[in-house]
Amino acid sequence: MGFMSVAENLKAIRAQIGAAAVEAERDPASVHLVAVSKVQPDERIEEALAAGHRLFGENRVQEAQQRWGGRKALFSDLRLHLIGPLQTNKTGDAVALFDVIETLDREKLAKVLAAEMEKQGRRLPCFIQVNVGEEPQKSGILPQELEDFYRYCVDECSLDVRGLMCIPPAEEPPSFFFALLRQQAQALGLQDLSMGMSGDFEQAIALGATYVRVGTGIFGERIY
Ligand SMILES: *Cc1c(COP(=O)(O)O)cnc(C)c1O
Repeated sequence: MGFMSVAENLKAIRAQIGAAAVEAERDPASVHLVAVSKVQPDERIEEALAAGHRLFGENRVQEAQQRWGGRKALFSDLRLHLIGPLQTNKTGDAVALFDVIETLDREKLAKVLAAEMEKQGRRLPCFIQVNVGEEPQKSGILPQELEDFYRYCVDECSLDVRGLMCIPPAEEPPSFFFALLRQQAQALGLQDLSMGMSGDFEQAIALGATYVRVGTGIFGERIY
């Protein structure tokens, strides 16, 4: 993997996504590849753009602004997903920069985001992050609290909630958690599922992922 170019990696991952979708009797076009560009050096980002990729994920607002602020003007079809925790004091910048917020995870944030979207006239699609493994160190809504939180986001805040997102526990097989997320989305009538990373996106596709978030599989290891 380390010696392959970003373009080659992208091609390989797209092929794997296609095969996993076909295997699951799904339309390959129903699975979107979010290229997770956090921490990656500029030349790798440029390679991905040159290869025609336009959908990227970032987990920090400030870092994303530095990387994408200027490029947004150059690529009108660029789409940016926020996939990391959002502090309420950064919601203004986040709403201005991103196209989708995947990490809606608490009432305070829902309320502040709604106000900010109203102010900027940008009603972004949102995903609710679910803490599927009920891990104390992880953000996300607990599965048993999801329905109430969803209702709050939609009824009280008028947010455009499109789907659910999860990061399953690192040490356990992910399929149980992917299935749980799918079942919760179905119960709420939500279409989109953001789940699956470099190591497990094929399993996520088998269980209904519509967005997979792949970083190292495309760009190589992150050097912190
Ligand atoms: C970093 C990150 C990814 C990508 O992880 P890889 O293992 O590099 O594919 C996916 N989702 C989230 C939320 C992340 O923070």
